[in-house]
Amino acid sequence: MLLFRSTNGQSPAVNLREALLLGLAPDRGLYFPDTFPKLTPEEIAAFARLPYHEIAFRVLSKFTEGIIPRDVLAAMCHAAYNFPVPLEIIHVRVFLMRLDQGPTASFKDFAAQMMARMFGRFLKEDNRQVTILTATSGDTGAAVAHAFHKIPGVRVIVLFPAAEVSESQRKLMTTLKDNVRTVAIDGKFDDCQAMVKRAFADPALAHIPLSSANSINIGRLLPQSVYYFYAASRVAQAGEPVVFSIPSGNFGDMMGAVVAREMGLPVKKIIASVNDNDAFPKFLATGHYEKISPSRNSLSNAMNVGHPSNLARLVAVYGGQMDETGKINKLPDLAAMRRDIFSTSISDECTVAGVREVWNNFQLLLEPHGSVAWQGFQDWTAVEPLGNSPAVIIETANPAKFPGEVEKVVGWAPDVPANMQASLQLPESFDRLGADYEKFRAYLLQQHTAA
Ligand SMILES: *Cc1c(COP(=O)(O)O)cnc(C)c1O
Repeated sequence: MLLFRSTNGQSPAVNLREALLLGLAPDRGLYFPDTFPKLTPEEIAAFARLPYHEIAFRVLSKFTEGIIPRDVLAAMCHAAYNFPVPLEIIHVRVFLMRLDQGPTASFKDFAAQMMARMFGRFLKEDNRQVTILTATSGDTGAAVAHAFHKIPGVRVIVLFPAAEVSESQRKLMTTLKDNVRTVAIDGKFDDCQAMVKRAFADPALAHIPLSSANSINIGRLLPQSVYYFYAASRVAQAGEPVVFSIPSGNFGDMMGAVVAREMGLPVKKIIASVNDNDAFPKFLATGHYEKISPSRNSLSNAMNVGHPSNLARLVAVYGGQMDETGKINKLPDLAAMRRDIFSTSISDECTVAGVREVWNNFQLLLEPHGSVAWQGFQDWTAVEPLGNSPAVIIETANPAKFPGEVEKVVGWAPDVPANMQASLQLPESFDRLGADYEKFRAYLLQQHTAA
């Protein structure tokens, strides 16, 4: 059975089930596979003829052996991935992969839908209950709330920065009710994330079984490797390396590409495109890591992250060690990292220009996150030749989630997809708290006794 170790190295290795249910390791590190299961070139070549849910099954079954029976996993994949994954041609062999057709119109549905099903199964088997505590910069909360809505044994508490999420992002989480509670925090996303992290380490809350659905949960990460296999199966010849440009905040999406590559997918370059929160591109260039605190606001608000939580995992893949505060105890192999990964910071001005250019030149509509990926790809082609390689730009949200930004550029507001339309009509309910940990602890205790 595959084991998962903590990036801090102070907690025992656990299986997928425990890693998923715990979220964060007891030593506050992140769980990561001890060794990566491999797919052979033949197994990967066979993906060209398979639908998305079947590729998901073949990739994820490498991690769930001995934990989830194969027929159960196959049914989960079938139920979770019942929406299209469009790949649109931008030009020649450059494609746009739209990961926005799930229930909350962001790529986070890919992970949340699968993780919720795994959680539901593990909890039922053990007759256990958990409270899922999650901080969101907008889209995670919606995806997690929808995925876990009405799952027995689960209560969901979502913290979001009151002033940093768009109206439609907020309504996708605050209109669900039942086992889902949302809390508007008068602070930044980083404050929400810090409060969640403290709650996990708080002895006064030890009697409440808490779990996380943030990208720190390994259950969020593994399903995000699948769409890289899927994209390659549709745009590349067997064995042909692909370039991926990924709009990055907490680097969970980008780590999905790293996991796919570690499992055997040929990848020419991973482009980690960030907004003004440029701690990672600076680190890659200099070897010196300095988190950005407070994080910087930008148009791509789901990426306003000053200290990307998944960096500890990336550093671990390259043989280094970074603790949860961002302190590097052992440097990773920077030369190898630079060979595999390119990273660049895209300003808001450049983000707006990207939406305009892609619309004017190719009649394809991007929203700010996808535009950051597009512009990051442009930056990369300025320093390395693409040649005849296929490239995939990741669009992580539906343009209708950012109607204001998009309308300013193209002159009209994008159509709202039917799945979002429904949520926007329903009445909202959410609680409000300051960015004050003591108050949050009291809130959690009160929620627990109320149940
Ligand atoms: C969360 C999110 C991102 C960033 O993904 P990470 O895995 O945190 O890097 C990018 N775009 C959108 C629309 C998102 O919701």
